[in-house]
Amino acid sequence: TLHNRIQELRGNIRVYVRTRPFLPNDGVSASSSTGGGHSSIEILPDGESLTIQGRRGDEAHAFKFDKVFAPSAGQDVVFEEVSEFVQSALDGYHVCLFSYGQTGSGKTHTMQGSGNGAMRGIIPRAVEQILSQAALMKSQRWTFTMKASFLEIYNEELRDLLVMMNSDGSIKPRDARTANKLSIKRNAEGKSYVDGINLVDIDVENKTVGLEQLEAVIATAARARSVATTKMNSQSSRSHSVFMLHLCGSNEESGTIVHGALNLCDLAGSERLDRSGASSDAQRLKETQAINKSLSCLGDVFTSLANGSKHIPFRNSKLTYLLQDCLSGDGKALMFVNLSPTLESCSESLCSLRFAQRVN
Ligand code: ADP
Ligand code: MG
Repeated sequence: TLHNRIQELRGNIRVYVRTRPFLPNDGVSASSSTGGGHSSIEILPDGESLTIQGRRGDEAHAFKFDKVFAPSAGQDVVFEEVSEFVQSALDGYHVCLFSYGQTGSGKTHTMQGSGNGAMRGIIPRAVEQILSQAALMKSQRWTFTMKASFLEIYNEELRDLLVMMNSDGSIKPRDARTANKLSIKRNAEGKSYVDGINLVDIDVENKTVGLEQLEAVIATAARARSVATTKMNSQSSRSHSVFMLHLCGSNEESGTIVHGALNLCDLAGSERLDRSGASSDAQRLKETQAINKSLSCLGDVFTSLANGSKHIPFRNSKLTYLLQDCLSGDGKALMFVNLSPTLESCSESLCSLRFAQRVN
């Protein structure tokens, strides 16, 4: 179909831009020189283009992506646009969604969201959709098994966020928790996997039980996540977190077996050193360099893929090595670029948009 052909030409990485609304505290801490106002991000009627301008009189920059969400777009609207993508993990694709942007731009809001209602983000919605869809596919003689893992990449090291969980989802006694050093390996089919990570079995047959198990996984990971304070956001996360669902489906009728994966990835803040005040502290400096290393490697991978290079530098960072199967071959990746609407964020927003442009 034409759609497939366009996909082929564009590659398998899509970019959605999401600008968050202006919040009451925006600009409160801004110095008088930058002011606390809105920058002008204007979304064009095609829903794919935007222009961004700092102060009046500054040059306006134009960008075009696969989709641009207005600040008013709710969590339901955003999920609607990714649900087909999520779905394809059940069809045997290796699928990855990222949220990219500076701290405070709405990455965690997009991926995880908050509460149990309308503010839920992609992770809880995706989990529910997968379980519902797997149940529906039973009528076509499909049965699935599902395992969940949750890790973070911090200073180019992998950490299991479920290290305290048994494979049945129960919590381990403190003294039985194993060392938390993980490495990425490749299996016989050439797919990446994390050696020694906890894989929690999810009951796909019983949706209520399955959902409870996945909620426990997400809650356990949230508790384990390392959070450090920066000037910009006290909840700022200095690590990349990756929620992984490993799916195996088999069809009783045809004997077909598919292996799919869904990776939902909340990236560390993309802001540069000076703005977060990170350079004043040796530990923060090390962190920021490690974060920027894997983000810049991600950008390099985008550029190499877009150029059709023979050699794609997946191995240059943990993040790209881990997600290689989603970024290459018949993998599928979708990156959210999250933007803050404040005037003081304008130059970071521009950096994020330029980063995303490397996909094409
Ligand atoms: P990040 O993870 O990129 O640092 P957060 O997701 O924590 O940013 O968002 C920063 C703040 O903005 C949070 O208080 C969050 O609830 C709020 N926020 C982000 N996006 C939206 C949105 N689309 N609508 C409403 N509030 C949002
Ligand atoms: Mg966050």
